[in-house]
Amino acid sequence: MKRRIAVLGSTGSIGTQALDVISRHPDLFTAEVLVANSNSSLLISQAIKHDVNTVVIADDTKYDEVFKALDPYGIKVFTGRESIGKLISGSNIDVVLAAMVGFGGLESTLEAIQAGKTIALANKETLVAAGSLVIKMAREHNAAIIPVDSEHSAIFQCLQGERSPVEKIILTASGGPFFSKSIQEIESATIEQALNHPKWCMGPKVTIDSASMMNKGLEMIEAHWLFGVKPSDIEIIIHPQSVVHSMTQFRDGSVTAQLSTPDMRLPIQYALSYPFRVELNTERIDFAKLSKLDFYKPDFDKFPCLTLAYKAIERGGNIPCAMNAANEIAVESFLAGKISFPAIPKIISQVMNLIGHIENPGRDDIFATDTEARIISKQILSNYN
Ligand code: MG
Repeated sequence: MKRRIAVLGSTGSIGTQALDVISRHPDLFTAEVLVANSNSSLLISQAIKHDVNTVVIADDTKYDEVFKALDPYGIKVFTGRESIGKLISGSNIDVVLAAMVGFGGLESTLEAIQAGKTIALANKETLVAAGSLVIKMAREHNAAIIPVDSEHSAIFQCLQGERSPVEKIILTASGGPFFSKSIQEIESATIEQALNHPKWCMGPKVTIDSASMMNKGLEMIEAHWLFGVKPSDIEIIIHPQSVVHSMTQFRDGSVTAQLSTPDMRLPIQYALSYPFRVELNTERIDFAKLSKLDFYKPDFDKFPCLTLAYKAIERGGNIPCAMNAANEIAVESFLAGKISFPAIPKIISQVMNLIGHIENPGRDDIFATDTEARIISKQILSNYN
């Protein structure tokens, strides 16, 4: 039986690589639904190439263009975020690949969970903002969540067949473009420098998050929810080669690791083919050539976003949601040239202090916190201009 897949965020970095994986295994996978935000031309060519059933273009100003292009092929076209939930909940979908960027991906992920779909989760903000809600709902609706983030895929792979609890998760980080830079150099970092990631080619949001190391903070929170490990038992370690994608430590002192050359198609494919492994034409590790693997302690003074993430999850409730919203706004402002790089953690920290704490947020509280944190972020930002 072929797995019928809905790709949410098909025109982004994860989405395009997922379609590459899908097209290489036509006997195993088929793309049924594609959802894109606004990149209409790429969505049109993807829909035709992969002969999909339905597409959604969230930006309704692009609807006519997409409809005119795809109607002759018999491909159904929808617009607006409201239609997404219904389309991915249908009986013609087995796996929902949630690869949209940011909090905007939460609503449709929740709908897919409610429909009991298997979720291949690439949208880390979903778990950061609403971790307890997502995990609880996934249990209730018997929806499996398979991580796509390379680190979490590594941990997930390390845990296959394990019956004993994890003592510690060791989350590896490439260190991003500013790993070897001084605090002074980071203070004057340009957008181009921040976007210049040494190891991974990704979308702009996650690349800036990597430069600030907020990405690793978000991933620590993501790991906490996915694997039920306390934040104090999740250690972040810098590993510039990005060959060890993360590790799990057990009570007998054993550490298991998952290694590969850095290629996002591997964790994407594993999430789609799980529990099986299928052929992938990625470059194999040549250990003789690799010769060494380096590991370093992260510098929390240089990367205050790491401290903020641990603080947010320790305070718990809606605070990680507020942190995520403030980060999204701050990153957007940095990319628009409105604020300096070091302003990112400053804004996030202020928003975390100003937001009202809700200990056990429900669905409505999460959406309200996100909205409020964005408003506070923008008020703080207006003082920067
Ligand atoms: Mg990652």
